[in-house]
Amino acid sequence: MFLPKFRHLRPQSIDEAVQLLTECGPEGRPFAGGTELLPRMKYGLIRPEAVISLRGIPVRAPRLTPEGDLSLDTLTPLADLARSPLVIERASLLTEAALNVGSNQIRQMGTLGGNLCLDTRCSYYNQSHTFQFVDPCFKRSGGRCYLLPKGKKCCAVFCGDPAPALISLGAFVTIIGPEGDRQLPLENLYTGDPLKPIAISETELLTEVLVPGHTASRRSGLGRFSFRGGMEFAGLNVAVVLEMEGGKDLCLEARLTVGAVSAAPTRMTGAEEAMRGKRLSKELIKEAARLTAADAHPFPHHGYTAAYLRECLKVQTRRTLESALSM
Ligand SMILES: Cc1cc2nc3c(=O)[nH]c(=O)nc-3n(C[C@H](O)[C@H](O)[C@H](O)COP(=O)(O)OP(=O)(O)OC[C@H]3O[C@@H](n4cnc5c(N)ncnc54)[C@H](O)[C@@H]3O)c2cc1C
Repeated sequence: MFLPKFRHLRPQSIDEAVQLLTECGPEGRPFAGGTELLPRMKYGLIRPEAVISLRGIPVRAPRLTPEGDLSLDTLTPLADLARSPLVIERASLLTEAALNVGSNQIRQMGTLGGNLCLDTRCSYYNQSHTFQFVDPCFKRSGGRCYLLPKGKKCCAVFCGDPAPALISLGAFVTIIGPEGDRQLPLENLYTGDPLKPIAISETELLTEVLVPGHTASRRSGLGRFSFRGGMEFAGLNVAVVLEMEGGKDLCLEARLTVGAVSAAPTRMTGAEEAMRGKRLSKELIKEAARLTAADAHPFPHHGYTAAYLRECLKVQTRRTLESALSM
């Protein structure tokens, strides 16, 4: 597999990058670590005329804002993020999630921003373009699904690891485009549409992730499942953040996010409501896990059936809640 021909542009600042993206329009693509973009170009899934490399732009180290929030530059490589003492202290859930991404080589190159902007995946889509050459699937602008032959729409899934952790931590993202900047909760970055999963335009860039300050009574946990460990994308992941009443098992606030089972990482509001304001007994944890599995509606993907994923989700959610509380 060879890369198609493209122009390589290397801006030195975010403003210059946005200007180049605006000039190139749909023919341009931002390139951060390239660990997802380049394989997609090699497979013939996208064919940008210009690649705007963000690698010449200085990267700011993680820092605390005057309000006590953790501010992260989206150009930070995941390996640097995972070893930052400030991130370990303030958002250990994110450290754990970043370490779940691929291999050390992928984490050295792959950035936080590139990870949050991953495209949805499917084993029938992330392949060479010669496959599906005649009869393309929905995601290749065709009219069929190879995974569910009777399916009426695409069922590719968003498999990124850090997004569920950051959503449970209540993170916000800053987006900069030709019209200026805007901020939105990270969960709103995901549309739920497998064909256009990320809610930013081709002239915009994700520049900052803001994780609200943490409390001493916070408990968190992360669950991840895949057939094999190592470099495999998650079959599912679960991230939970619980605000507990100091030293007691009363849950004041719960945020539980499930990823890799649909086109967007999704908050499980049924389970969150069931736990809010209650003492987290064994029975209640089981009930929250049951509600999560019932509400998630997983797509079958990468060899996992929907029924199997639902059962896994129940087990992983229970274990994640238990491990969060035992910390
Ligand atoms: C073998 C292998 C295993 C992997 N395993 C995992 C895994 O287990 N978990 C996981 O989460 N990921 C995994 N990945 C996916 C990916 O490599 C990582 O998620 C990585 O963090 C992507 O970051 P990047 O900087 O390389 O993105 P890039 O490839 O540079 O970009 C990805 C996409 O985001 C866009 N983009 C990049 N930066 C920005 C920005 N600042 N603003 C707007 N758009 C932007 C690009 O245009 C592109 O569409 C794996 C990849 C490989 C090849």
